[in-house]
Amino acid sequence: AKEVVEDKDEDLEFRAPIVTVMGHVDHGKTSLLDYIRKENVIAGESGGITQHIGAYGVTLESGQKIAFLDTPGHEAFTAMRARGAQVTDIAIIVIAADDDIMPQTKEAINHAQAAGVPIIFAINKVDKPTANPEKIKERLAGMNLLVEDWGGKIQSHDISAKTGLGVKELLEKVLLEAEILDLKANPNKPAVGTVVEAFLDKGRGYVSTVLVQGGTLKVGDYVLAGKHHGKVKAMQDERGNNIKEAGPSTPISILGLDGAPTAGDKFNVFEDEKEAKQIAAKRTQLLREQAVRTQRH
Ligand code: GDP
Repeated sequence: AKEVVEDKDEDLEFRAPIVTVMGHVDHGKTSLLDYIRKENVIAGESGGITQHIGAYGVTLESGQKIAFLDTPGHEAFTAMRARGAQVTDIAIIVIAADDDIMPQTKEAINHAQAAGVPIIFAINKVDKPTANPEKIKERLAGMNLLVEDWGGKIQSHDISAKTGLGVKELLEKVLLEAEILDLKANPNKPAVGTVVEAFLDKGRGYVSTVLVQGGTLKVGDYVLAGKHHGKVKAMQDERGNNIKEAGPSTPISILGLDGAPTAGDKFNVFEDEKEAKQIAAKRTQLLREQAVRTQRH
């Protein structure tokens, strides 16, 4: 077995924040993620994001990056947490300004707080004549959640996911929060991270979208993710570009695993194929035994 080696301070470098968007149904989570994805946010990167791979990265005008988990809703967030995966650095909670604090808004707030993840409120749909963002902030204050406008510390921004109003400023607030969090990782070691999504593609075989959380993942690395393993044959970003290396906070699709791992599974890189295969076989065996046990009960 391998020892867990702690990173030394001098090996740590700044990494981009990883953001999850949560909130009540129909309050605009998908619209916000789509707007950010399609508008190619701010930066003049050529070629929009063409593929839905469960996570994507954007680069702002300043050159700063943000990684988004493109699986709106807290189901994905809680499913990952249930598997022991803590991927999210910051939660954007979308609240429709023409509605109210709804049950799933409260759930999202509770999930973020339980995970110790800072919240930024996106008060959405302010383009609507019936929108009343102040009412939402007042309601939040009533729940002891004081946003900055109300003299509190929680960041919030009025936006329209439809017109894009305020989205750029919202992302600047994400970067501000990231600065406070002082997010760091060591890029100079074999990669570790978490699986976001995986599926079988007719032409390409198993495609697994992973988030690199530490180290750098390279084409040719031998990866073990959950009970699946394989040599990374190719890596693609959300624009379908082939890339050779992916550092911390980079979402990336990898080709070459022998199956589809589950969202929330951790992945590691092994120097030696044999060791990875042995662990994969052991995990498959354990899962089989568990299945037999649950069948008996
Ligand atoms: P989700 O369930 O939270 O993912 O919500 P959606 O993004 O699917 O949005 C629900 C509905 O609200 C859709 O009909 C959207 O077009 C609409 N919507 C979302 N954001 C805005 C907005 O900023 N302004 C307006 N007018 N409509 C919006």
